[in-house]
Amino acid sequence: MPIEYEMRDGALLWIKSPITGVISYVVDVRGKSFAFTLGGREELNPEAPLPDPKALDHAMRTCPFCPGNESLAPPELMRVTPAEFPRWHGRGLCEGAGWVIRVFNNRFPRIPESLTGGRNESYIVVEDPRHFSDHPRSINDLMCTAALGEEHFYQLLLTDVRLIRRVLENPAVRSVVIRKNQGRESGASQPHPHQQVIGAPQLLPAIEAERRAERENPGLWEQLLEIVDRAGLMIEQRDGVISYASPIGAFPRSYDVIMPAFRGSLTELDGDELRRFARAIFRLVHILGPLPLDYEIHQGPGVPLHAHVNGRLYPYSNVAGTLNLPSQLVHNVAALRKALARN
Ligand SMILES: [Zn+2]
Ligand SMILES: [Zn+2]
Repeated sequence: MPIEYEMRDGALLWIKSPITGVISYVVDVRGKSFAFTLGGREELNPEAPLPDPKALDHAMRTCPFCPGNESLAPPELMRVTPAEFPRWHGRGLCEGAGWVIRVFNNRFPRIPESLTGGRNESYIVVEDPRHFSDHPRSINDLMCTAALGEEHFYQLLLTDVRLIRRVLENPAVRSVVIRKNQGRESGASQPHPHQQVIGAPQLLPAIEAERRAERENPGLWEQLLEIVDRAGLMIEQRDGVISYASPIGAFPRSYDVIMPAFRGSLTELDGDELRRFARAIFRLVHILGPLPLDYEIHQGPGVPLHAHVNGRLYPYSNVAGTLNLPSQLVHNVAALRKALARN
């Protein structure tokens, strides 16, 4: 069955996700106030007084992901050292850090270890030793992935690949996902920038739903890309990697990065391909900057390798299986394309 949607005068009116069944309606929300939802973000206020250095210091001293506090976290499994990553931007800014990226088990496994052969297959990948941005304007002005730079993000995915290889050595693991939450609004429980890698005993339900949808709608991804293109939501297409604003994402501001011709795991990409995939994700994350976001990298047999990047500043507004897409999305995408062309 083809994807159900309607366009009028070249503009998307509604579309039903063949994966979740959610219907996205394109609506004009320009007059709607988000002041209540977005209140309390003092780090965005240039007039706010500078934070107390003692409060910043206290946050770092008690953070289990900060350098010096390694003993507060579970035992380390992997690290990338400054010597292994000579182009690290944090050099000289972070005194005494013996690592740039660090991996250990998540103290709170997403999936009970009794289901993955008695091994905890949930991991934390700390992205950088820096807790706060270079000149924090508040206790919430945290280091963010966008500030790491493109090369660092590639190093991060390389570390994920090393970790995933290790996870897949466990015969009880059938599926691995990479997940990132940035900012309180996205549900991050630790302020220090980190990713999660999770190994699961069965194909993760989100990916299974995508596989099922494609079985029922052969050519699903090609069709979606064609609709996206016609609706003006395409962002970048180069070297086999495509990014677009998704009209069937989980949130009103959702972006996908996809390698339509590659159906496999991150671990099967060659260095150049991994670099191109990482670059396309980073370019979106870089534009979103310190805003709350999440991303998830979906891989598995039978689905093209892809990432979902969700901007989380605007409230989640799925109501009874309906979602509203702002009608300005097409203009935002045009602005995004321009901003990316400048980079
Ligand atoms: Zn920290
Ligand atoms: Zn997916």
